[in-house]
Amino acid sequence: MTTVEEATRLVLSTVRSLPVERLPLPDALGRILREAVTADRDFPPFNRVAMDGIALSYAAVAQGQTQFEVVGMQFAGQSPTPLTNPATTLEIMTGAMLPPGADTVVRYEDVDIAEHTDGRRVATVRVLPPKAGHNVHVQASDRHQGDVLLPEGTLLGPAEVAVAATVGATHLVVAQRPHVAVVSTGDELVELDQAPLPYQIRRSNSYMLQAAVWQAGGRAERFHFNDDPEALRQGLPPLLHQYDAVLLSGGVSMGKADFLPAALAEAGVEQLFHGVQQRPGKPFWFGQHPQGAVVFALPGNPVSTFVNYCRYAAPWLRAVQQPTLPQLEATYAVLAADFTFNPPVTHFLLVSLHSTSDGRLLATPERAHGSGDLASLLPSSGFLELPAAQSVFPAGTVLPVWRFR
Ligand code: AMP
Ligand code: MG
Repeated sequence: MTTVEEATRLVLSTVRSLPVERLPLPDALGRILREAVTADRDFPPFNRVAMDGIALSYAAVAQGQTQFEVVGMQFAGQSPTPLTNPATTLEIMTGAMLPPGADTVVRYEDVDIAEHTDGRRVATVRVLPPKAGHNVHVQASDRHQGDVLLPEGTLLGPAEVAVAATVGATHLVVAQRPHVAVVSTGDELVELDQAPLPYQIRRSNSYMLQAAVWQAGGRAERFHFNDDPEALRQGLPPLLHQYDAVLLSGGVSMGKADFLPAALAEAGVEQLFHGVQQRPGKPFWFGQHPQGAVVFALPGNPVSTFVNYCRYAAPWLRAVQQPTLPQLEATYAVLAADFTFNPPVTHFLLVSLHSTSDGRLLATPERAHGSGDLASLLPSSGFLELPAAQSVFPAGTVLPVWRFR
């Protein structure tokens, strides 16, 4: 049977970059940039006044001058008036361009301005500026024109949107959202608006996976097939040709109604593995159609479905949008209590996570009644990956953690 490491490698081997689309900037939030965004001007684009106060020449202050005649007022957004006489000063506001002839700003808090009867206004500097350039945000001190600000592959959050806006990017080229078919299989599964008979249940996995795909930046539509080889024969091929990925749940174990592996093979999907040395989620089947979708056929027990989704499908969905990102960075947590797991398989252990005041992330195992215990996901925030080669895990052990909350 395939190890978790080998399964991960095979899943990621099917990653190819999705086509791109060009979106208006506000619509690009949460998407992956597929072009580089460069600075069209210096950052800041001019010597920007950083405090409300007066602009003057530092050389005059250095020579002992503390009184300056105020010859004007300059607001942000105004073209600057040069300061030709170093004995004079201008009142100036934050965001204004520093005028030629001035190199320093003294804030209002450090100046007294006296109004004389003849209308002259004289500023007395009470707190001397420590150096030339004080309170000036110097042109190009942050970034230079032409610098790459957002490399291809950047996830666009509010800060990235602001940077794109400041360089005038009205539109951005981003990866298309992966298009996913979410398919439940099983005769016992009914739609939500249907009253289940005593031996039936609702199709919760489809809604879980659809929500998860949306959260990962994809878009997903739901389908359902009964445990009927003919229905699968008819229903699967169109999905394999219309979607980037097909996420199935149920029908991949050893049961007499688990028809999916055969149906997928018949539909031309090449199996890359069936069965992973892991718990939960051992029956996971994975394959790829040569001209079509990548297929994640996940076992139907809800915790198995979800853990397999988080561990394999979610990284795949990110990777197809962000192919320049070579590897996802692992997160680690500290096991809060001793834990033993004997079977020689990788164990995904549901945990709640708490950060401690000394900066550690503590993982407390959650009680779960096996992989059918959907409600055990509620108090959990993720799962630890306990390696197959080890069975005793003392409190304090540092382990990779997959967070879903
Ligand atoms: P299977 O993998 O088909 O053997 O199903 C394993 C268990 O998961 C069974 O108890 C199924 O009823 C349950 N199950 C399968 N699919 C779903 C689903 N879409 N929503 C909720 N439970 C499911
Ligand atoms: Mg089933």
